[in-house]
Amino acid sequence: MNDNTSCQLTDRQLENIISELEIADINHLEWLKCVHSSIICNHEFEKDAISDDSHKLCRFGHWYYNDAPELLQSRPDFLAIDELHKVMHDAARQLAELHNNKASISKTEYEEFILKQRAFSKKLLRLRDSLRDNLLSFDPLTGLMTRGPFTHIISTELARVERANSSSCLAMIDIDYFKKINDTYGHLTGDRVLSSISQFLLHHIRSYDSICRYGGEEFLVCLPMTNSIQALEVMQRICFELEEHQIEHDDDISLKTTISIGIAEFKAGENYESCLKRADDMLYKAKHEGRNRVCV
Ligand code: GH3
Ligand code: MG
Ligand code: MG
Repeated sequence: MNDNTSCQLTDRQLENIISELEIADINHLEWLKCVHSSIICNHEFEKDAISDDSHKLCRFGHWYYNDAPELLQSRPDFLAIDELHKVMHDAARQLAELHNNKASISKTEYEEFILKQRAFSKKLLRLRDSLRDNLLSFDPLTGLMTRGPFTHIISTELARVERANSSSCLAMIDIDYFKKINDTYGHLTGDRVLSSISQFLLHHIRSYDSICRYGGEEFLVCLPMTNSIQALEVMQRICFELEEHQIEHDDDISLKTTISIGIAEFKAGENYESCLKRADDMLYKAKHEGRNRVCV
C-alpha cells in the first residue's frame, strides 16, 4: 500500500515537495544546456560547475540538504537521489575540467555523463509521481484513503475470494443525523466531528481491515477472511464503542453521535458494484429500523 511517511506529510508539504522536484528537473535541463553550450560554443564553464560541491550549490542541492522535510529522510527513493545527483555533478565537473584545460572529451566520457543525467532525472520524476499518487490517495479532511485506492483493494479481495473460496465482507457506514450537527453547531464543528469519527473508525477496525471515505459522511470497510457473522460482531463492537466516544466541542460541551452499518459478504463471481449495492441496501435497512445498528 501507500508509503506511511507520505501519509504523515500534510497536503501542503506534499504539494511543495512535488513542485520542488519539478523545478529541479527543469533547472537541471537548463543546466544541461549550459554544459552543452560551454562545449559546443567553446567557452569556459561557470565557476559553480567546477566547484567540488557543485551538487550543493544548485537550487535543488540547497533544498535537498537544507530545507526538505525531515519525514522524507525515511524514504529510500528520496535518499537514493543524493548519490545520483552528486555523481551527475561530478561527471559534469570532469567534463568541465577537461574542457577548461583544452583537453578533448571522449565519446565515452560524454555518454557516461548523459546516462548519469538521465538516471537522476528518472529517479526525481519517479519520486514526484509516487508523492502525487499519495496526494490523490488520501482525503485531506479525514486522513482516510479515498475511493480510488480502495477500489483497487476490493478488486484484489474479490479475486482472492474467488480463487481461495473463502469469505470476506464489505461494510458501509453512515453517520446518523449528521446534518443536524451541521445545522446546530455549524459546518466547522461538523468537519471536526467527521474527522474525529474517521480516526475512531481507523483505530477500531482490525489491523488487516481497510477503510475509505466513500463520500460525505459515509465510509466503506473491507474485512478480509471474515464471514458475515464475524463481520457483524466486529461492526457491532465498533457501533457500541462509538456511542461512548466523546468529541470535544467547547470547554464544557462534548458531542456524541452514532452510526448505522450495512454489511454484505462477497459472493464468488460477483462484481464490486453488486456487493456495494447489497451493503447499501443493508445500511438502508439499519436506518429504517431506527439507526445505531448493524444489518447483514
Ligand atoms: P441519516 O441518519 O439518515 O444518515 O441522516 P443524515 O443527516 O446523516 O444524512 P443526510 O444525507 O440528510 O445529511 C448528510 C449531511 O452530511 C449533509 C451534508 O451537508 C453533510 N456533509 C457531507 N460532507 C460533509 C463534510 O465534508 N463536512 C461537513 N461539515 N458536512 C458534510
Ligand atoms: Mg449519508
Ligand atoms: Mg447520515
